[in-house]
Amino acid sequence: MKCFHCDEPARGVCSFCGRALCKEHMKKMPAILTIYVGEANTPKAVVVSDALFCGVCKPQPEPIEMPEIY
Ligand SMILES: [Zn+2]
Ligand SMILES: [Zn+2]
Repeated sequence: MKCFHCDEPARGVCSFCGRALCKEHMKKMPAILTIYVGEANTPKAVVVSDALFCGVCKPQPEPIEMPEIY
């Protein structure tokens, strides 16, 4: 697998869209893995502080509505 941005061998994959990334082109950004409701109905998020990010895709901070699926 080659990097999405160049022809270097990929070292990782974007956590958000799955594009392959070499060491040069991988960026990091916090990622919310899961949101759940904890004690006293407080929403809690499981966050990874340095997930791999390709720099191209646009991860949404919240789940987006997709009415066209229905
Ligand atoms: Zn690259
Ligand atoms: Zn991406």
